[in-house]
Amino acid sequence: MKKREKYCRNCGETFRSKRIDAKYCSVSCRGMGNRARKKPELYDGTMSVEFSLKPNEYLKLLKDGQIIGITPEDYAQTICKEFINNLKN
Ligand SMILES: [Zn+2]
Repeated sequence: MKKREKYCRNCGETFRSKRIDAKYCSVSCRGMGNRARKKPELYDGTMSVEFSLKPNEYLKLLKDGQIIGITPEDYAQTICKEFINNLKN
């Protein structure tokens, strides 16, 4: 039977497999891939979070942020981190 060239979903390397449904090059990549799928937040250092503000809220954030030297992005990160810390406590 012809082996197929595939890309490992975990490490991205090419590999050959007889199995049509093979997704990983090795047992360890399969293990990591499965864990990453269950808890993606633990395996990819960052996540992007999107939320909306009304234009006047955004402008206020920009203006007040300039005074204390933070960007809206910094502010959003701070808020998210505080939120997470509050959940832990
Ligand atoms: Zn791999």
